[in-house]
Amino acid sequence: MTLLIKTIKELKEKVKEYKKEGLTIGLVPTMGALHRGHFSLIEKAVSQNNRTIVSVFVNPTQFGPNEDYDKYPRTLKEDLQGAEKIGADIVFSPSPDEMYAGCTLNNNYLTYVAPPYEYINKLCGKSRPNHFDGVATVVTKLFNLSEADNAYFGMKDAQQLLIIRKMVKDLNMNINIVPCPIVREDSGLAMSSRNNYLSQNGRKTALALSKTIFTVENLVKNGNIKDVRYLTDVALKLLEDTEVEYIEFVDYDNLENVSTIKNNTLFAIAARVEGVRLIDNILLEE
Ligand code: AMP
Repeated sequence: MTLLIKTIKELKEKVKEYKKEGLTIGLVPTMGALHRGHFSLIEKAVSQNNRTIVSVFVNPTQFGPNEDYDKYPRTLKEDLQGAEKIGADIVFSPSPDEMYAGCTLNNNYLTYVAPPYEYINKLCGKSRPNHFDGVATVVTKLFNLSEADNAYFGMKDAQQLLIIRKMVKDLNMNINIVPCPIVREDSGLAMSSRNNYLSQNGRKTALALSKTIFTVENLVKNGNIKDVRYLTDVALKLLEDTEVEYIEFVDYDNLENVSTIKNNTLFAIAARVEGVRLIDNILLEE
């Protein structure tokens, strides 16, 4: 049975128990509205650890003032059932007050973890200026609370994954980060809790993102096209029915733009469909 825990105190007690028994712990941080993408992370955690903790927390400090914090889907009952089916031991779902006790929501009294500017001022960080500070901070808290040996993150949020790895390395955190591939619907659409906002028509339009990802991959792999300017034009054309926020080709070590495809180049897109902000990406090889 999966235990639903809402308080830090109770979570700490459970973790203490696990540690005393010498059990390994896997952590899967999520914001809930769980789908097959999340489930793939939980499955991996369950297969690699003695105990698995899934956090379900819509973290207010990573949302900007005009973003969708209030309307973000919250489906704890279903999330708990889903996590239980896969064999998670704990779903940790605290309230914002529980998580940030004493710190008001404008965060003036909160100690922050600040990832390097060079990592957070690019890609998603351009339109979401405080987002990655909020992510790094809540993830640090979750690492400390869970005392996990392994934590699972999806490549869907490639910039987030890179920033977390950098944080763990720079701050000597004692945890292993396990990257997990993007899970897609049969149509190719990358799974996302925000897909729930889309109408039937919107879902069709949203397919432009994955189509662009795979078209560019094919041009690089089979067409031997390496020129980023050319590939950007192709992408722009395919995304013309969406509102493009960015199309970027960057070195996935440091997020610097590249002009020619080389090994470990991240091709990443953010675009809005029906006002819903969607992201997708792929790692390209030379
Ligand atoms: P979220 O609930 O959106 O914050 O996501 C929680 C974790 O699930 C993050 O590590 C995401 O990268 C990962 N994730 C979300 N969608 C997918 C997906 N389609 N495939 C793989 N991982 C995903």
